[in-house]
Amino acid sequence: MKDKILKLLYDSDDYISGAKISETLGISRQAVWKHINSIRKNGYMIESINNKGYKILAKPDVCDEISISEYLKTKYLGRQFLHFDELDSTNAYIKKIATDYKKEGLVVLTEKQLAGRGRLGRKWFSQNSKGIWMSMMLRPKISIFEVSKITQVVAAAVASALADLGIDSKIKWPNDIIINDKKICGILVEMNSEENHINHIVIGIGLNINQDKSDFDSEIIDIASSLKIEMGKTYNRAEIMATVLNKFEKLYDEFCMGNFEVSRKICSEKSYIIGSEIYVINNGEKVKAIAKSLNEDGKLLVEYESGQKESLIYGEVSVRLK
Ligand code: ADP
Repeated sequence: MKDKILKLLYDSDDYISGAKISETLGISRQAVWKHINSIRKNGYMIESINNKGYKILAKPDVCDEISISEYLKTKYLGRQFLHFDELDSTNAYIKKIATDYKKEGLVVLTEKQLAGRGRLGRKWFSQNSKGIWMSMMLRPKISIFEVSKITQVVAAAVASALADLGIDSKIKWPNDIIINDKKICGILVEMNSEENHINHIVIGIGLNINQDKSDFDSEIIDIASSLKIEMGKTYNRAEIMATVLNKFEKLYDEFCMGNFEVSRKICSEKSYIIGSEIYVINNGEKVKAIAKSLNEDGKLLVEYESGQKESLIYGEVSVRLK
């Protein structure tokens, strides 16, 4: 109901009366007043004038449905949208509720994540509302063996969305976005499947936007950064989020129709590591190699000092620049 009231307030250029809201939504004037107060608690500045009604004067920097709808151009992605002030983890939340959503495209975003996770259970710092902490639920009709490529499709979408907003970034295979040698975004794709059938996949994206240096935990201060730190300005999170969803829906649709090449090409052109010396880290063992190229199947082709070549599969290794 709060969202519906907010929408009415947004859609009317002038004051909208409590009577009009109560009539349109079929709730009492008392209920309207209660919801308006609750919306105010979420940071919206709403003026109320006797005999005129309510009007929004200022909105908080939240990534809610209304803020995003201004920029969202997707057909289905994010058209089912849940916004939270706090959640343990958006991936974990979607996993819990996925069966309630038959259609794909659900997006869950939280202002703060209390227990964000990366790959292999690594911690993802996201306890402030200055980044985009979101997950999407999809039901791709593809072979289970194609799923690992989706991380590349997401990375391509994030980097292209940032490029559209005038921000140059690099993709560190398989799942990080880098600006000026610092990690600003991580991607985590998880799958729920039975035998060879994919029930759903959950894609988590953590994107650092408006943090200052002092917002980062000492554990990651040397490796992490935000758009604000690197670009020297504050960004509208809703616009960035919607731009990522717009890009991703296009690339994902193409991918599901058998065209991975568009995403692969973006990942290859924007690669942070291709052509560089890297360490391939597997079970704690570090081996020097050169990152050669990104294969048609999204695997990273590396060449070891011995001259031996290997195609690395997402999930098996971590790549650290020398
Ligand atoms: P990796 O990059 O090693 O493959 P993940 O993609 O799973 O690992 O991301 C988890 C790692 O990302 C953490 O171990 C930490 O080093 C780093 N990290 C955690 N939170 C953030 C953040 N908000 N911004 C940038 N890097 C982060």
